[in-house]
Amino acid sequence: MKAHRKELWFNTPHRRDYINITGEVSDAVRESGVREGLCLVNAMHITASVYINDAEPGLIADYDDWLERLAPHAPISQYRHNATGEDNGDAHLKRQIMGREVVVAITEGKLDLGPWEQIHYAEFDGRRKKRVLVKIIGE
Ligand code: ZN
Repeated sequence: MKAHRKELWFNTPHRRDYINITGEVSDAVRESGVREGLCLVNAMHITASVYINDAEPGLIADYDDWLERLAPHAPISQYRHNATGEDNGDAHLKRQIMGREVVVAITEGKLDLGPWEQIHYAEFDGRRKKRVLVKIIGE
């Protein structure tokens, strides 16, 4: 069995950003040499997510509006977590609902994604260095 590990680093310009990382994950699969296996992609931070859905810009704006309705950033005093001196109580909640990781099958050396499926990194407390783990196993 082969195993391949890669980190993808981000430092987003905004507090919240949504980045299509399908190309970078595909690169990692190619580097791994795995033809048949599994690819795990997970955010390594508790205020960011990895999820799969359409890369359509309207949908991404809808996600952002929906998450802000569910867990508005401000006023920051509404979150007990922020009593620690942090201001990212909302980001932890957004991360929970959008998920930590995805697992994608690798078939014939490629990500075996469904139609319109794209892998995204969702940042909810950006403007600092954060990373995503890509772990690939198979033959
Ligand atoms: Zn926090």
